[in-house]
Amino acid sequence: MQVTLQVRRFNPEAPRAQPYEQEFTLDVPGYFTVLDTLIKVREEMDPTLTLRCSCRASICGSCAMRVNGHAKLVCKTKLTSVMDAQGKVRVAPVGNMPVVKDLVVDMKPFWDKVRGVDPWLQPQGPEPKDEYLAPNEAMVHLTGVMMCIMCGACVSDCTVLEVDSNFLGPAALAKAYRFVGDPRDGAAKGRLGKLSEYGGIWDCTRCYECVQVCPKGVAPMERIMALRDKAIVAGFDKAIGARHTIAFGEIVGHSGRLDELRLVPKTFGMFNPLHLPNLLGMIPVGLRALRRRKLPPIRHKSIPGVENVRRIFKKVEAGQ
Ligand code: SF4
Ligand code: SF4
Repeated sequence: MQVTLQVRRFNPEAPRAQPYEQEFTLDVPGYFTVLDTLIKVREEMDPTLTLRCSCRASICGSCAMRVNGHAKLVCKTKLTSVMDAQGKVRVAPVGNMPVVKDLVVDMKPFWDKVRGVDPWLQPQGPEPKDEYLAPNEAMVHLTGVMMCIMCGACVSDCTVLEVDSNFLGPAALAKAYRFVGDPRDGAAKGRLGKLSEYGGIWDCTRCYECVQVCPKGVAPMERIMALRDKAIVAGFDKAIGARHTIAFGEIVGHSGRLDELRLVPKTFGMFNPLHLPNLLGMIPVGLRALRRRKLPPIRHKSIPGVENVRRIFKKVEAGQ
């Protein structure tokens, strides 16, 4: 079958180094992956094409790239699954990391963030005679997160990292969960405190992109949500995100639906001078909503059958 690869190229040594697109049209067998095709281009058409790969079996995590705009491991991406009607596939380096050459990026920002969550066990108490043991059932919930192969696909497509490089990002936060959730780790409280600061768990916008692109089913966003729960339970409930979550639950648990007029002051705190600018910043939003007749009703009413909602909340709080 014939395929056209449109590859984003970048040569830092070129006189006016700028990224550009180059097309390669070639015949390949129907079973080829995107990686097979890139290697064929490099071997038969352009030996300067630069890419990174190793195991070719979706284990090493080296070959993450953007295919048609989304990060994928190209060794496990069949051409036929991504070709458009004209037989074209767009390939570019992963995002949110500086490009070294063509499809190769510098993973330093990725590793710096992983290092930032202290990704090692910190047991406390007396050292055991033989080794630190944990019961199987206490470790089962960590098996998914342990599947991470550090490919960077989630970091590439994280919508928050695109605008705020201070955010720890999905891979590092999933790694943090791996240690917070380990019964042998004695530093969970300190970790949760640090993760509740700016750039941590409350900065995720829950866009779901990292869950979508992760080739190993790690579901980083789900781990971030689990860390949020653990942080609130551990008493780290002062971050705006934590306050918003608690206020949301209180309002819905009381009336069965959200009262947006109360949500904002409850989140920021009416008399907290620290959050006064945030509170004032919501006034234009309120005015716009008023102009478009979308302002929530001043008098908030409970939904019919609200007792059932309250019962559900009570059960959840009691952990039933
Ligand atoms: S869900 Fe959160 S961590 Fe995942 S990509 Fe979106 S913003 Fe980033
Ligand atoms: S969480 Fe998934 S996408 Fe992110 S680095 Fe690990 S394996 Fe790759």
